[in-house]
Amino acid sequence: MSTVNGGISFWYAQEGTPPPREPLPGDTTADVCVVGGGYTGLWTAYYLKKAVPFLNIVVLEGKFCGYGASGRNGGWLYNGIAGRDRYARAHGHEAAVRLQQAMNDTVTEVVRTAADENIDADIHQGGVLEVAYTPAQLARLKAFHSVEVAFGERDRELYGARETADRVRVTGAVGSSWTPHGARIHPVKLVTGLAAAVEALGVTIHEATPVTEIKPKHAITPYGTVRAPYVLRCTEGFTPTIKGHKRTWLPMNSSMIATEPLPPEIWDEIGWAGRETLGDMAHAYMYAQRTADDRIALGGRGIPYRYGSRTDNDGRTQAATIDALREILVRFFPRLAGVPIAHAWSGVLGVPRDWCATVTLDRSTGLGWAGGYVGSGVATANLAARTLRDLIQQDSGQSGPTDLTTLPWVGHKVRRWEPEPLRWLGVHTLYAAYRTADHREASTHTPTTDPIATLADRISGRH
Ligand SMILES: Cc1cc2nc3c(=O)[nH]c(=O)nc-3n(C[C@H](O)[C@H](O)[C@H](O)COP(=O)(O)OP(=O)(O)OC[C@H]3O[C@@H](n4cnc5c(N)ncnc54)[C@H](O)[C@@H]3O)c2cc1C
Repeated sequence: MSTVNGGISFWYAQEGTPPPREPLPGDTTADVCVVGGGYTGLWTAYYLKKAVPFLNIVVLEGKFCGYGASGRNGGWLYNGIAGRDRYARAHGHEAAVRLQQAMNDTVTEVVRTAADENIDADIHQGGVLEVAYTPAQLARLKAFHSVEVAFGERDRELYGARETADRVRVTGAVGSSWTPHGARIHPVKLVTGLAAAVEALGVTIHEATPVTEIKPKHAITPYGTVRAPYVLRCTEGFTPTIKGHKRTWLPMNSSMIATEPLPPEIWDEIGWAGRETLGDMAHAYMYAQRTADDRIALGGRGIPYRYGSRTDNDGRTQAATIDALREILVRFFPRLAGVPIAHAWSGVLGVPRDWCATVTLDRSTGLGWAGGYVGSGVATANLAARTLRDLIQQDSGQSGPTDLTTLPWVGHKVRRWEPEPLRWLGVHTLYAAYRTADHREASTHTPTTDPIATLADRISGRH
């Protein structure tokens, strides 16, 4: 059986793409114009419209809602946020604890709101299990676990090899850390359900409408301009396609594979009855979920970045990446050596120069943006959206500062990425270093992180 490659994602192949919405018919006005119909843009429209029902909100989506990472991700709805440790250093531990608490609450918020809106997104709140299978990974796992507990996660648990195997039998796993603040989702069911909910509230969504330029109070498209006091850029990995934003966030690729549904006898061997989302402590880490129909969907980095910030070819990924992901799958579960891979695909995430997610409303121009989530945007997009709602309400005099507008990631500024070829060289060197470090840690059984990885982290600005 041959593997389907691309077609946006397995999730779309399973669900089918919804009927297209009309493009922007011409010039128009709105109170708020949201650019991008992924989780960030749609949640923002959702919360704004709920808070102020008379607002005229227009969403402009270049392709169709969920075309980006929101329709392609690994379905980890979890409490990680890119940049928390850096925010702790800049704003103090307490501020970062508040950010972490807000992320923990965000997982609950998404699960609750999906239920309220009758969005059936195969949500299963089994938490997140991250495993270690080399001595160096185990040392990192323990350090990671302590840090998370110090940021307020007192309900996180550290497991040895036997307790890990009681949950999921990953070959050679020597330990794991589990947090209850995570759920498995079906990404496309969430994004299409959310788009429908937003529309039902009275928000206008135009698809096949790429915004070429954003200026204060203007979103410019080939079909007309939307004039609005607030224009919100929610375009994550595709941000370089907008005029003037080539070096704002780097579009980083992530690729995935999904197996055919696995029979009960294989699940008896693997375990995974709790359907936790599953990850590891490698530098070039993997992430996986057990789907509602009993497949394994597993992702990792693949070719990390394409020259000149090129973003997409409808989700196709390289044959070498499919082989590499299959290797990880079999390394985790050798019994799966012969199972067919039904689908492979890829997508882009947005990576800021300092690897810190952010949400901002520039009060002098009415321009806002949220993103730079790196690999942790499924939940973070929801927190960003509620924060944009509060920032707009504050700006328009309807409320004062809130618990969300005072979080340390609000209004964060970061420098732009280097021009090419430095950008390409930098990212490729970084991931080559991570792969080398993973290989050396596995082959030498050293109990410490390989210095190549530490150096790569420092040089890249990642830690
Ligand atoms: C393969 C993969 C796996 C991932 N796995 C996970 C995971 O398991 N857990 C997790 O937390 N995060 C994960 N992520 C990241 C997460 O999916 C994203 O952070 C999140 O979906 C970002 O949502 P968004 O709405 O900001 O961006 P996107 O979902 O990328 O949406 C941006 C939208 O804007 C549109 N757009 C772009 N430019 C324009 C323009 N000029 N005009 C109009 N519209 C435009 C795009 O078509 C797109 O629909 C993964 C990402 C990928 C690629």
